[in-house]
Amino acid sequence: MKSVKADLHLHTNYSDGNLSPIQLIDLSKKYGISVISITDHDNVNALEEAIIYGNQNGIQVIPGVEISADLDKQEVHILGYFIDYKDKRLLEFLSASRNLRIRRNEKIVRKLNEMGSTISFNDIKVKAGEMTSIGRPHIAMELNEEGFVKSYYDAFIKYIGDGKPAFVKKPNPKSSEVIRIISEMGGLSFIAHPGKLVRDELLISLIQEGLDGIEIIHPSHSKSDIEYFSKMAAEHFLLTSGGSDYHGGVKNDGRNFGNYCISMDEIINMKRRLFI
Ligand code: AMP
Ligand code: ZN
Ligand code: FE
Ligand code: FE
Repeated sequence: MKSVKADLHLHTNYSDGNLSPIQLIDLSKKYGISVISITDHDNVNALEEAIIYGNQNGIQVIPGVEISADLDKQEVHILGYFIDYKDKRLLEFLSASRNLRIRRNEKIVRKLNEMGSTISFNDIKVKAGEMTSIGRPHIAMELNEEGFVKSYYDAFIKYIGDGKPAFVKKPNPKSSEVIRIISEMGGLSFIAHPGKLVRDELLISLIQEGLDGIEIIHPSHSKSDIEYFSKMAAEHFLLTSGGSDYHGGVKNDGRNFGNYCISMDEIINMKRRLFI
């Protein structure tokens, strides 16, 4: 029997991805991926359209989200799967996070303007649309189009990467709060791409806060990362997940698509934990 391929970490143009939910599902079908999760940053607006189109095309779409959170002043990303994406409280929570992003983006653009760039955050907002979660990648693309930087990545290296001259820290909800709301929405929480950032004590803190699982398969993980996190998951009875974190377009990560998949067993384990 052909094994089922699942990619549970994908972005659309409702956050900083390049493809629409429909284009992403068409691409998944082309690559023989039959289960996906769309995990836009602080946003679930892609999900309704994706689930309907997925159903029509034989692709199961697990409702997902990737929420930025703070853990001991460090930003971590928490993936929520099987969430009730229509719940009013979740929508309000995510909308508050997107508003924090907007205020932070305005500050970043102000700094860039002082450094000689002429980009306007209003133009970025209009291009992205009301329903989209806007982040630094949108600013990087605008700087690139303006010609203020040589490339998308150059924008991070010179100006807006962590600690660079136009960087502004984003205030995020606490990881404990994010884990709790995902659970209250009937979902499962996973630490996204923990890599080198979230080891030992920080990982244990998240587990104590109620984390359900670890994203093991991710393009940023080395073989030893995978071994370490698999062992931690087994020791702490955690679920395991993974995906390509594909964004497309200028991020030039097309080679990752289809190459960071998990098996159906891992999804069955998630469903068992939720009794669904
Ligand atoms: P934000 O959530 O607005 O802080 O934007 C974070 C996103 O910006 C990350 O998910 C990456 O896609 C991108 N990013 C952050 N730092 C870098 C970097 N140094 N190089 C390239 N992309 C980056
Ligand atoms: Zn992203
Ligand atoms: Fe992330
Ligand atoms: Fe991501």
